Amino acid sequence: MNANSKQATETDALFASIGEGIIATDDNGIITRINQAALKILGYEHDELVGSWFPNQVVATYRDGTPIGMMDRPVTKAIVTGKTITERMTYRRKDGSLVPVSLTVSPIIRDSKPAGAIEVFRDISHDIQSDKMKTEFISVASHQLRTPLSAINVYSRMLHDGMAGPLNDDQSSFVSNILSSVDRMNSLINTLLNITRIEAGGVDVRISDVSLYEIADAIISESRPGAEERQLRIKSRVADTPSIATDGMLVREIYSNLLSNAIKYTPAGGTITVSLQEHGNNVVFSVKDTGYGIPQSAQDHIFTKFFRADNILGEDVSGTGLGLYLTKTIAESLDGNLWFESTEGKGSLFCFELSKQGSSARRGKFKLD
Ligand code: ADP
Repeated sequence: MNANSKQATETDALFASIGEGIIATDDNGIITRINQAALKILGYEHDELVGSWFPNQVVATYRDGTPIGMMDRPVTKAIVTGKTITERMTYRRKDGSLVPVSLTVSPIIRDSKPAGAIEVFRDISHDIQSDKMKTEFISVASHQLRTPLSAINVYSRMLHDGMAGPLNDDQSSFVSNILSSVDRMNSLINTLLNITRIEAGGVDVRISDVSLYEIADAIISESRPGAEERQLRIKSRVADTPSIATDGMLVREIYSNLLSNAIKYTPAGGTITVSLQEHGNNVVFSVKDTGYGIPQSAQDHIFTKFFRADNILGEDVSGTGLGLYLTKTIAESLDGNLWFESTEGKGSLFCFELSKQGSSARRGKFKLD
């Protein structure tokens, strides 16, 4: 067997044995090769697909069911742009049923020109189903935790206020500790519930005339005692910007998440600078800290659910990795931009920008707590 035919046999074996669907096309999008896994996912026979025009023969839709035009199909984009494309979408099987897939299409480049493409895809129905079950579980568990927690809260407050008789210093400090843990648990439950609500039906955005200045100013005042306790200085550079038509409660959630992170992730002696400024047609809120910073390797994952960077795990700072995921989702629902810059060991800068045109009202299924 010569080297070329050995290589071809190996490629055939690789094609056949891989568990993910693979479709190879020429530069016109005509299917030249397809493996068993792809045929199984799509419900076609080999000869029904090989030789046909891929975007025409296998219908694709976005996740909301809208058909994807030929030019927007990943295979077309990969051939036209020469770039690798990764997307999630839905394919229509031969029997008309729909299958959600995650796919990557890479162009085949020959003599610096695209000569075709290879698409690798997998059926993600199980992933979607298990994500849904996880979300439902979190939602039910959080609701069930709320009732006993509110009883603990009420009775501890009554003890604290001396309604069951005066407390000595130790008793009073123990009850204060219980109360602050109850507050932390309450806010964790609210975050979990808000996430399940967002995932189930999107955020409700209610528009009114909002003074971003008042929100930023109030949040700084509320955060000062906690910051002082941690020996941090908050510098305010908050300008009295014009009011904007947006959802004040959601803006407050974003601002306060960014500031509370800066306080959490800056060691004693540090400085946090909060600013609100007009930049052209936008109003930018920013929080700069002199804290632990975010390692380069973690920066792509910072808005992912449950992600916490390695460098803070040893620092005894509690957290869930949910705050920024929630913040980013809310920022998008307000048509705003959220971004950050950070250097490990030096500090971070988080910015949230809203256009002076404001946000659009949106009917989500739920209101946030
Ligand atoms: P949590 O604070 O509950 O862990 P977040 O979603 O708010 O969750 O943040 C995710 C991760 O991003 C944090 O665990 C931390 O590693 C990093 N991070 C966020 N803000 C900062 C900051 N200001 N400085 C350093 N790291 C930060």
